[in-house]
Amino acid sequence: RAWSVCLGRGVCSSPWRLQSSMSAWLVDQYGSNEVLKFSDETPAPTVNSPNEVMVKVHATSLNPLDIAMRGGYGAKLLNLRRDPLSVVNSDREFPLILGRDVSGVVVDCGSEVTHFFPGDEVWAAVPPWKQGSLAEFVTLTEFEVSHKPKSISHTEAASIPYVASTALSALVNAAGLCKDRCADKRVLIAGGSGGIGTFSIQLLKAWGAHVTVTCSQNAEGLVRGLGADEVVNYMAEDAEEHLETMEKFDVVLDGVGGDTEQWAMGLLKPWSGAKYVTLVTPLLHDTDSLGLLNGTFHAGLSLHNTAFQSAISSGVFYRWGFYAPDGPALDEVRELVDAGKILPVVEAQFPFAQVPQAFQKLEEGHARGKTVVRVA
Ligand code: NDP
Repeated sequence: RAWSVCLGRGVCSSPWRLQSSMSAWLVDQYGSNEVLKFSDETPAPTVNSPNEVMVKVHATSLNPLDIAMRGGYGAKLLNLRRDPLSVVNSDREFPLILGRDVSGVVVDCGSEVTHFFPGDEVWAAVPPWKQGSLAEFVTLTEFEVSHKPKSISHTEAASIPYVASTALSALVNAAGLCKDRCADKRVLIAGGSGGIGTFSIQLLKAWGAHVTVTCSQNAEGLVRGLGADEVVNYMAEDAEEHLETMEKFDVVLDGVGGDTEQWAMGLLKPWSGAKYVTLVTPLLHDTDSLGLLNGTFHAGLSLHNTAFQSAISSGVFYRWGFYAPDGPALDEVRELVDAGKILPVVEAQFPFAQVPQAFQKLEEGHARGKTVVRVA
C-alpha cells in the first residue's frame, strides 16, 4: 500500500499520514448484490477545497437508498448534481461508493475550516451525489459535518445521521414543526419500526408531541419503548377503522408510501394547517424512467395535483420530504443523544468484510432500527 506524507493544508497540520489508496466497497455497474466489489486499491479522497474535511470512517450504516442506488435508482438526477457534463457522458459516476452515514475522526481539513480539527470525532450524513462511506475515508464540507455525541460509540452513532437529517428536514421544513411548537401537536408516523420511524418517534417525544405509530404487531414493544403513545398494527383488519376513531392529527409523516396517502390524508384535522409529508416520492423514479425534463415535469405535476386537491377539499397541506445535508441540525441531535433523549437503535452489526451480507439483511425488509457496518 502506498503512503504519502500529510500535505498539511491551511490551518491544520494533520498528525495523520494520509494514504493515497484505501479499502472500499464499490460498484462499477448497477445491479443486485453481485455488483458490490471490495477493493483495497481505491484512490483515497483528498481535501480539494478550503471548506472540506476528510474523515476516517469508523462506522457506517445502510439505508434503503443504498439498495436502490446499487440498482441505479436516481442515477440521472444524481449524476446531474455530481457533474452537469455527465448528462452527455454516462457512466462517469463509476466506480461508485455507496453508504450515507459516517461516524469517524477528522484527519485533514481545508484552509477555511474553522470548526473542526484533525483528531475531532465527528458524524455526518454523506449526500447521495458524493462518494459514500463504505470506505476507509470520505470527504465532506464543513457544513455537512457535526461533532459526534460523546455518550455513544462510533457504531451506535453511525445509525443516526442520515435518518436524522431526513426526519428533521421533513418535520421542520415540510411539516413546520420544531421543539418549541410541538407540545399540542398530534403526529402520526406511518412506518414506525425502521430507521426513520425509530428516530422520529424519539425526536417528537423529546419535543413534546403526542405520537401515534403504525407498525407490525411484533414491533409494538420496540416503538412503545421509544416513547410512542399509541400503536396501530397496520396488518390488523380493522387498522384503518381504528385510526379513524382516534382524534385527528396535525401531521402525518409517511415513510411507507403506496396507498397510504389514500386513507391517511383523511386522518388530518381539516382546515387547520395540518400537513401530510411523504418521504416516498416519485421524483427520482420519474427522472430515471422519463428523463430529466419529462420526469421532473411529471413528478411536479403529480405533486401539484395532489397538493391542490387536498388543499381545496379539506384544507390539508400535502408535501414531499427529502433528506437534506445539515451539520448544525446534527448538532441539535447530538445534544438530545447526550441528554439520553434519543437512543441509537442498532438492530444488526456487520464487519467491513461482510458488506454484501449487510445489504442482504436490509433487503430482506422488516427493519427494526438500523443495520450498521463497522469499518475501522
Ligand atoms: P426501513 O427499511 O428502515 O424501515 C421501513 C419500516 O417500515 C420497516 O420497519 C417495516 O417493517 C415497516 N413497514 C413496512 N410496511 C409498512 C406499512 N405498510 N405500514 C407500517 N410500517 C411498514 O426504512 P427507513 O425508515 O430508512 O425509510 C422509510 C422510507 O423513507 C423508505 O421508503 C425510504 O426510501 C424513504 N426515505 C426517503 C428519503 C427522502 O429523502 N425522501 C430519505 C430517507 C428515507 P415491517 O415490514 O416488518 O412492518
